[in-house]
Amino acid sequence: MKVEDIKTKERIPLKKYVTFGIGGEARYLAEPRTIEEVKALIDFAESEGLPYFILGGGSNVLFPDEGYEGLVIRMAALSQIEVDGEYVIAEAGVPLKRFILVARDAALSGPEPLIGIPGEVGGSIVMNAGLREREIGELIESVTILTYDGIIEDLPPSELGLAYRSSKIQDVGIIVRARFKLTPGDQEHIDQEIQRFLERRKATQPYGVKSAGCVFKNPEPDVSAGFLLDKAGLKGFRKGDAMYSDIHANFIVNLGEAREEDVRFLIEEGKRRVYELFGYELEEEIVLVENPGGL
Ligand SMILES: Cc1cc2nc3c(=O)[nH]c(=O)nc-3n(C[C@H](O)[C@H](O)[C@H](O)COP(=O)(O)OP(=O)(O)OC[C@H]3O[C@@H](n4cnc5c(N)ncnc54)[C@H](O)[C@@H]3O)c2cc1C
Repeated sequence: MKVEDIKTKERIPLKKYVTFGIGGEARYLAEPRTIEEVKALIDFAESEGLPYFILGGGSNVLFPDEGYEGLVIRMAALSQIEVDGEYVIAEAGVPLKRFILVARDAALSGPEPLIGIPGEVGGSIVMNAGLREREIGELIESVTILTYDGIIEDLPPSELGLAYRSSKIQDVGIIVRARFKLTPGDQEHIDQEIQRFLERRKATQPYGVKSAGCVFKNPEPDVSAGFLLDKAGLKGFRKGDAMYSDIHANFIVNLGEAREEDVRFLIEEGKRRVYELFGYELEEEIVLVENPGGL
């Protein structure tokens, strides 16, 4: 496999590929269609000393305004999915919504609470995305990883270091595929649950606007970052076109042309106020990408 054969573009605005709508240009952006292509790109980047970043649905990342002077590997074209009895096998770039609907069509239950989370399978496992009722990690039978040494291996969930909105997968390599074990159920009931969770989400979160989901992790299971930010008066607090949502204080929304620096300012201000008022040191849930620079 030659790296020149893989669909790669130069100087691509990253804001098009992230739900926040923020970010300068990627020096290179590649969209591998197969696991072999992912491997060829990683081998190429490693051998050339080219910094690279793996991009899923882009729903949890903040890219720098000055862009990413390296290779962004976007996983969206790795999008095969199949059902095998009670198992669903999905490649990393399959959107969560598609995974949930394929499972529903096969009358398989488990992922319904995740509806409305705009990520892909790979990125969602890395972040162990979820909500009180369900985390994606609970559904995993095994995950296929391309290690940084170029080896493809299947790991069980016990070896993924899954925790609240985090995992240790990125210490080992890149997710290329996952095998989920679901529970046979009644299709109509599954459909109702999907609708119920979607409606609840629409009622409690800013929906259909540019954001990257929750900015901070909850500092304790029963202490919500959104509650603390609200009490610290951050709802509606704005810098440029970036603003703490007035619907849910743990969301920063991009009202138009928000810049990374505006968001970073709001993040620091949120941390400062919550620490001063409540003594909690908030930790980011969103991934703040640094520009490796120097190409
Ligand atoms: C409106 C909205 C609502 C949201 N609601 C929720 C919610 O309820 N619960 C929740 O947990 N999250 C929520 N999020 C956050 C986000 O959707 C999840 O974290 C999501 O699952 C991230 O997946 P992604 O594919 O977009 O990953 P990305 O944002 O693209 O990437 C996240 C991280 O994973 C890495 N990564 C991506 N793919 C791979 C791969 N294949 N292999 C290795 N590393 C990879 C990236 O390098 C990055 O570090 C919400 C976001 C939005 C915008």
